[in-house]
Amino acid sequence: MYHSVDDCADDPYNITVTPERLRQQLHWLRSRGLRGVSVAELLDARSRGVGRGLVGLTFDDGYGDFVENALPLLRHYECSATVFVLPGRLGGENEWDVQGPRKPLLTPQGIRAAAAAGMEIGSHGLMHVDLTRADDEERRAEVQRSKAHIEELTGGEVHGFCYPYGCVDRPTVEAVRRAGYRYACAISPGVLTGVHALPRVFVGQRDTAWRLELKRRMHRLRRRAWHVGEGPQ
Ligand SMILES: [Zn+2]
Repeated sequence: MYHSVDDCADDPYNITVTPERLRQQLHWLRSRGLRGVSVAELLDARSRGVGRGLVGLTFDDGYGDFVENALPLLRHYECSATVFVLPGRLGGENEWDVQGPRKPLLTPQGIRAAAAAGMEIGSHGLMHVDLTRADDEERRAEVQRSKAHIEELTGGEVHGFCYPYGCVDRPTVEAVRRAGYRYACAISPGVLTGVHALPRVFVGQRDTAWRLELKRRMHRLRRRAWHVGEGPQ
């Protein structure tokens, strides 16, 4: 789980990796025989039994720096990724992060450029609202209208949703499933873990090779723990 890729000294929410750090992390992936792919591609490959060696890469919020800084590196390392964008804030800024710093979000042209380069475009809702605190009507609008809006923008079907702040509960999962999303990404969804609440691992500027290795192993254990509790999936 990535967010912004840029040179940024002021990063109170820890959402930025430098292009050089991303380059090192992609190099780390590839040198271990792994390849970063979009979540849709990962799930599709796994359903056909050929998901070994694939790692889902996600970029939340749809920062403008994705096209300038992340895309060239992903292409260089023959990886793809899913970008979860906010169609209610096209060309706007991350105003929900009250402490800043303000970062520009992708414009419609930027989103189309990412899609044309083979990246999956998913929905992060319209405005970056905590859906577990929204009423039914707002939740439905965030989930359904964002999907329709992105589909209009890119001309492709939107399969993936990503819960803002990673906040998820049963009514939210149900709303996302009903809106026709094939999958949804969370962070640590606990008992809700499933295809509409996929756990993800935060990757940040401090993640050098040994920390990535540790996170990779921890993630396996984390997933297994829930599978044991829930029975086979
Ligand atoms: Zn977000």
